[in-house]
Amino acid sequence: MKTPDSPQPSPSAWTSEDAAALYGVREWSGGYFDVSSAGEVELCPKGIEEASRLSLPRIVDGLRKRGISMPVLLRFPELLDRQIHDLNRGFGEAIEEYGYEGKYRGVYPIKVNQQEQVVDEVCTYGARYGHGLEAGSKAELIAALAYLKNPGDLLICNGYKDERFIELGLYARRIGIDCVFVIETPIEVKLIIETAKRLGIRPKVGVRVRLSSCGSGHWKDSGGDRSVFGLNAGQLMDCVDQFREEGYLDCLQLLHYHLGSQIPDIRDVRTALTEACRVYVGLIHEGAPMGTLDIGGGLAIDYEGSQSKSGGSRNYTIEEYCRDVVETVKGQMDLCDVKHPTIVSESGRATVAYYSVLLVDVLDVNRFEPELDESEVPENSHYLIRNSLAVGHSLCEENLQECYNDAFFYRDEIRQHFQAGAMGLRERSLGEKIFWDNLAKIWKLCSQIEEPPEELLGLESFLADIYYGNFSLFQSLPDAWAIDQVFPVVPIERLNEEPMRRAILSDITCDCDGKVDRFVESGRIRRTLAVHDLREGEKYLLGVFLVGAYQETLGDLHNLLGDTHVVSVRMGEDGDFEVDREIEGDAIADVLSYVEYDPKQVSARFRASVERAVRSGDIDVDERRSIVKTFEETLRGYTYFEE
Ligand SMILES: *Cc1c(COP(=O)(O)O)cnc(C)c1O
Repeated sequence: MKTPDSPQPSPSAWTSEDAAALYGVREWSGGYFDVSSAGEVELCPKGIEEASRLSLPRIVDGLRKRGISMPVLLRFPELLDRQIHDLNRGFGEAIEEYGYEGKYRGVYPIKVNQQEQVVDEVCTYGARYGHGLEAGSKAELIAALAYLKNPGDLLICNGYKDERFIELGLYARRIGIDCVFVIETPIEVKLIIETAKRLGIRPKVGVRVRLSSCGSGHWKDSGGDRSVFGLNAGQLMDCVDQFREEGYLDCLQLLHYHLGSQIPDIRDVRTALTEACRVYVGLIHEGAPMGTLDIGGGLAIDYEGSQSKSGGSRNYTIEEYCRDVVETVKGQMDLCDVKHPTIVSESGRATVAYYSVLLVDVLDVNRFEPELDESEVPENSHYLIRNSLAVGHSLCEENLQECYNDAFFYRDEIRQHFQAGAMGLRERSLGEKIFWDNLAKIWKLCSQIEEPPEELLGLESFLADIYYGNFSLFQSLPDAWAIDQVFPVVPIERLNEEPMRRAILSDITCDCDGKVDRFVESGRIRRTLAVHDLREGEKYLLGVFLVGAYQETLGDLHNLLGDTHVVSVRMGEDGDFEVDREIEGDAIADVLSYVEYDPKQVSARFRASVERAVRSGDIDVDERRSIVKTFEETLRGYTYFEE
């Protein structure tokens, strides 16, 4: 066990390689990030085997020179390109390997990251593979229609669809977009048929089924029997009958299911797919032409780098996923002598997770280190103070747990005496110092022995420093708060120096939930992060990785901290980086207007107050000018901590 207090190895013993292992960089980075021998995190846009690399500290330096301050969300379009490529190549190779007679078509579900840049780039990079889009609402449909580029592009429409939605989707077919309505609830069938009749356009329709096999992990409820979307077997047959009666059975060409996001165990993928194949074959037997099997999302990302079926990981690679899918579908179809369908997958998370990195500067540290000088403890102190001090003196390996219990006992006794008026503030303060000193001694001993008592392991986070990062958890990492998702956090420089402190990361909202206290370390989850001491006058920057999926638009305006700056960076010809796009983060006036303030009104109200102070003679007009200027500049400024 390594702790801040474990014996310090000579500085030369620690290398960047140790840091890469400690933070698990090569395990979670998908080959896109590495640690250089100079101790810097590097982007490897062409993969870890290749020499082309971009140092993140160097990017930060370049951004600072351009006047862009932290926090910044970096986007790397090259990684998006690569992920789309890998997914298509994975399926392409599997299709070849198994002699599969159908094709693969990917679609990107817009909801995973709806930002214009993302949708634009997905359509650009995806064009050569015919990679399409998935829309779950009218707004997403509109975005998809505007950005799909080629005739025949696939557009899968999920979610509740009103008449307008359906009209627009039908018109999309007229202009050559392969738009498919996926029926989520039985109510939709009638509306689709009526609208199609009215416009005289034949729709292409899919059905979403609820499978009885459901995945594990956070989202397991969105797949199986409890899923709010999708048809059960009875409803499915009712739909088929309706289509047949109306003469629209030939329009039923796709079967869709979505097990939920981040399915960590490949066995769940296979089990669900097998069931879906059985349903597909059943629909063929019902006389529907079919032709496409849409397996939804769920392809997981190994945030923990543990390659396991733990919720934040996955026990398979993209290649294995593709092979298992193709093999299963082929096996099931061959068994029933059914033509191999086109396989569609809706992988969102796996497409965009690597794409973005949040850069956060550490503003300050709070340490719980006791500064106890025993000579300060007067001879005639309260007996509770003396007893508490004795706890630390009697400490040895055999009485660790006892001393731990006693330390808390005396702390509580001292607090109670203080509250009852039997002890002064100075004495209580001394008591607290002794308490922290006791805990630090206990933890130090724990870290030196083989098997410390279980209960005492919690001391690590109890004693950890708090590093204050310039960001809002609620805005930039909502899933870390909402579903305890773990994201890799790594200092982006000084990795050739051993990180000797342990910390949790707090944001700058005043919410006590605004903290990160679960981290990836050597393939497991730890409550604290290994960090370096801050140096006077030097920045300390943390990168939060794999934040491209779901984080950007789920975020909210807690404490009115707004969107961060976004900078999109790619490798230039000369090996240096190029700023590809820059999107300024929210100003305070922007976030105020989101919550219905009118910035002009806000300003006018404040000016009126200042004018009152002038009239009453409290300030003169010069001071008025400074006050108003400060107010106006702040109103136009960044919502985050500024230097
Ligand atoms: C959210 C969603 C997806 C994306 O899932 P990932 O696990 O992110 O790939 C795909 N399909 C549907 C229907 C969804 O709701």
